[in-house]
Amino acid sequence: LALHKVIMVGSGGVGKSALTLQFMYDEFVEDYEPTKADSYRKKVVLDGEEVQIDILDTAGQEDYAAIRDNYFRSGEGFLLVFSITEHESFTATAEFRSVGAEKSADGERPDDRGGGKLRASLGKPILRVKAEEDKIPLLVVGNKSDLEERRQVPVDEARGKAEEWGVQYVETSAKTRANVDKVFFDLMREIRAK
Ligand code: GDP
Ligand code: MG
Repeated sequence: LALHKVIMVGSGGVGKSALTLQFMYDEFVEDYEPTKADSYRKKVVLDGEEVQIDILDTAGQEDYAAIRDNYFRSGEGFLLVFSITEHESFTATAEFRSVGAEKSADGERPDDRGGGKLRASLGKPILRVKAEEDKIPLLVVGNKSDLEERRQVPVDEARGKAEEWGVQYVETSAKTRANVDKVFFDLMREIRAK
């Protein structure tokens, strides 16, 4: 039985736990403990084949720091989640993905104003830990799509960033379940294709 290891990454409050629990149990959990990290396993049928998905729902710097490097290394695919209602959480996706690992065209490190704290607390981002691999299965997920009236991140902006990274951008709602299965299944397909 193939096992696909997926890691939920992103700022606090964006809906990593809500997406995970909606996928696992078909329910919208509104008040999941914000500092709690946990892992989940489920058997699913992926394109006619039974597989297992292992989801690590991370929960920010504290508990995360100790296990982070290990999990980033053992993770095969990442859902890089932000909330469309919080622009800062979108900006943070770049930090999670690549600060310090990527050089811009002129050889300078990417602008990291305001990112120092985040980087220090999060340590190695995905790309640095997984630097040996040329293409890491990853989707950029704009969650809380049901809160359109509170949108702070234009679709084009998020899509543009995802294109730059060569990855898919999908908007989800853990509340309405919109695209929840899609992001997990598409990520498993990317992992399988590797
Ligand atoms: P995490 O810190 O990334 O794990 O975020 P949580 O899953 O704990 O969610 C943070 C808050 O956002 C909670 O109050 C959730 O109920 C709410 N939330 C999460 N996803 C959605 C969503 O898709 N739509 C709406 N309206 N609220 C959401
Ligand atoms: Mg959480």
